[in-house]
Amino acid sequence: MLLTGINAYICDECAERAFEIVKESTDNPSDKSVFSLSGAELPRPKEIKSFLDQYVIGQDEAKRYLAVSVYNHYKRLMQKPDKDDIDIEKSNIIMVGSTGTGKTLLAKTIARLLKVPFAIVDATVLTEAGYVGEDIESILTRLLQVSNYDVKAAERGIVFIDEIDKIARKSDNPSITRDVSGEGVQQGLLKLLEGSVVNVPPQGGRKHPEQKMIPVDTKNILFVCGGAFDGIEKKIAQRLNTQVVGYTSIRKTAHIDRDNLLQYIAPQDLKAFGLIPEIIGRLPILTYLEPLDKIALRNILTEPKNSIIKQYIKIFAMDGILLTFDDDALDFIVDKAIEFKLGARGLRSITEDIMIDSMFELPSSGETELHINTAYAQSRIEKSKTMRLNQI
Ligand code: ADP
Repeated sequence: MLLTGINAYICDECAERAFEIVKESTDNPSDKSVFSLSGAELPRPKEIKSFLDQYVIGQDEAKRYLAVSVYNHYKRLMQKPDKDDIDIEKSNIIMVGSTGTGKTLLAKTIARLLKVPFAIVDATVLTEAGYVGEDIESILTRLLQVSNYDVKAAERGIVFIDEIDKIARKSDNPSITRDVSGEGVQQGLLKLLEGSVVNVPPQGGRKHPEQKMIPVDTKNILFVCGGAFDGIEKKIAQRLNTQVVGYTSIRKTAHIDRDNLLQYIAPQDLKAFGLIPEIIGRLPILTYLEPLDKIALRNILTEPKNSIIKQYIKIFAMDGILLTFDDDALDFIVDKAIEFKLGARGLRSITEDIMIDSMFELPSSGETELHINTAYAQSRIEKSKTMRLNQI
């Protein structure tokens, strides 16, 4: 049979072939999308880590785990299912570390280099279905958004769930009141982590009946969770103490570094903190972030590619002003951050306090140089809000 066009004819067989070709390419849009993977250009774990090193100071352990997981995630996506019976399963990650040690920074940095869609979501807004807050499925909305609603691409993506500790069970004994933002959410999260088809509200928030849902299969989505788990050191200490009863234990206790108990973290501590065992089981890779000491803070100030100091130098350079710092002044900033117990987050607010007057005055002064020494830094801090905050 020949179909007539304006200037040509096409036979039925060719029309059918053409239909199939078009259908195939629209069914697999991700194959052509920016997120396509090819073995040769995949960054190896060492390359991923050295990329992270440019932006994040220290945290070697977490970087290694993250690099390997991301690399294995790529491999899993590229595996041909029918060749043999070995199916590489995903290994979701959980990172534990006090606030301001670089968890979100690690996640954001790795996102720059990824070849799959990547979304960062916050667990604090989640509640059990039917309560004020957001549905658990809204975690995937963000991923859909970054993949331009290309479902196939989203199904290969990575999701970073921040503040996972905020959905810990509120107390150990099942309480009289419902725990709608704790255990209820964990139960909901389970099906996402283990892999199933979930209906995602395209705009996020709370699902409602008239809304059209997008089904997303989470089987190949890698989940990376991060949380501060405030007070988990106590649980670790308790476990270490109970383990070391007996004669042989005395030598073991001598090795324990009491200042950094987080390095001994084990799944049972997460359970004691209030995560349900099913969730812990679906986050098989557990790693930790080191607390930041003085040397680390000092490095954070100047070393990363977009360190705080480099940012201020750039701000001033835009006005034609050369900004320089005394080493002692930088040490002073670090000391203040430690004194105010603000960690890495404090470095920025303290530097901001020191620079604010100059940033106001200098652009209209015609000056071409600004040098910050300790005396100047000290005088600015003394009149600043941060200082007043500390005195309250
Ligand atoms: P967390 O998510 O662990 O609470 P963030 O990653 O949000 O902490 O860190 C807050 C800020 O502190 C970051 O934007 C970054 O400027 C700085 N920072 C924290 N840790 C590091 C680090 N290890 N290396 C470089 N900068 C860091």
